[in-house]
Amino acid sequence: MKQSQLFTKTTKETPKDETSFNAQILIRAGFIDKVGAGMYNFLPLGLRVLNKINNIVREEMATVSGQEVLMTALTPKEVWQATDRWDNFDVLFKLTGNDDKEYALGATHEEIVTPLAKKFLCSYKEMPKSIFQIQVKFRNEKRAKAGLLRGREFIMKDMYSFHTDQADLDEYYETVKAAYFRIYERLGLKDLTYLTYSSGGAFSKFSHEFQTLTEAGEDHVYICPDCQVAVNREIIAEHNFCPVCKRADLTEAKAIEVGNIFKLGTKFSSAFDMKYMDQNGDSQEVIMGCYGMGPSRIMGTIVEVFNDERGIIWPESIAPFKIHLLSLKENKAATAIYQELINNNIEVLFDDREDVGAGAKFADADLIGCPYRLVVSSKTLERGGVELKARTSDQMEIIPLDQIINQFKR
Ligand code: ATP
Ligand code: MG
Repeated sequence: MKQSQLFTKTTKETPKDETSFNAQILIRAGFIDKVGAGMYNFLPLGLRVLNKINNIVREEMATVSGQEVLMTALTPKEVWQATDRWDNFDVLFKLTGNDDKEYALGATHEEIVTPLAKKFLCSYKEMPKSIFQIQVKFRNEKRAKAGLLRGREFIMKDMYSFHTDQADLDEYYETVKAAYFRIYERLGLKDLTYLTYSSGGAFSKFSHEFQTLTEAGEDHVYICPDCQVAVNREIIAEHNFCPVCKRADLTEAKAIEVGNIFKLGTKFSSAFDMKYMDQNGDSQEVIMGCYGMGPSRIMGTIVEVFNDERGIIWPESIAPFKIHLLSLKENKAATAIYQELINNNIEVLFDDREDVGAGAKFADADLIGCPYRLVVSSKTLERGGVELKARTSDQMEIIPLDQIINQFKR
């Protein structure tokens, strides 16, 4: 992508009505744009990042046999009444259609997925199954002041699994837990992300959250230094010790929930009378699990934890581009390098702007935060190459022109 053609440009000004760090810097760098409280447009750079996060999530959900679907974001009142959530789910956005019927904008999809699965999963032979979607969700959040961390419209990956018995759910639940850790590892968040015990429902003692440590987080967790697990403060009254090793002197930290997994049991299958036929021809209630994750919140979280005073520092796996190529009045040589990188499928943002000075180009590269910066100038060409600097380091080196591709090809 040529920066001269990019739809957005960076700005030094911090948006006045925006108090959250992740949104401020993402807006300044041109990744997102604010429409209102908890409402953001994703712009070309931002959508590239979001899509990369989504694709990592997709790949890992496929490893646990999740099949992708896309359910409606518009949901009828009746399904929420069936679970008693129409009046009891305080963040539901409600609206009325031309047909005078009431609807809610989907805030979560148990009420849609259960009647859907009921149409296909009728016999023990058809289970287990799990389906997921990556979709926009709507919640009328009261505290939509944390940028991408708490949208009123946001992206969620929600997966739902259907089982014949508790043991099968328990086993599957553990495989999803492992897949979640693989996702956080690929996103560069593993060291900061703790499996966190929080209160369960009627069907399990605990549910599990995945909490990433950050001062911007709204949750308080207590970490066990030995076990790499944490407890959510909401339940600490009963469980003020590590659930694994029982150690009591846990460390308090602020964190943001980047995912959670939950054993639903028969709560939704019984509300929608979803039953299956077992081996003996008897009718049994289906056991369910649900597994949520917030790709847009994860994007905001990554910005909160990987940055310096100059800008964002994207992990390579989700950076908008791997390389930011800067031409300092050497567009001819730089264009040849740009073309060669593209020919080798190496993602590159090419700052080919002729009316922008070197200082502004360097500042933009740091703000946007691609992992590698390549500078082409008369000085670097005199030395026979381009200057390479990683966003995470201050060291620069000259790479000979004929070595550039080797340097970046995996
Ligand atoms: P929180 O306690 O932070 O409000 P939640 O328990 O309501 O989260 P879930 O209903 O389990 O969250 O949603 C699944 C995932 O969706 C969460 O783990 C989080 O990553 C993401 N998520 C939830 N609410 C929001 C939001 N308002 N904005 C962005 N992401 C969200
Ligand atoms: Mg919530």
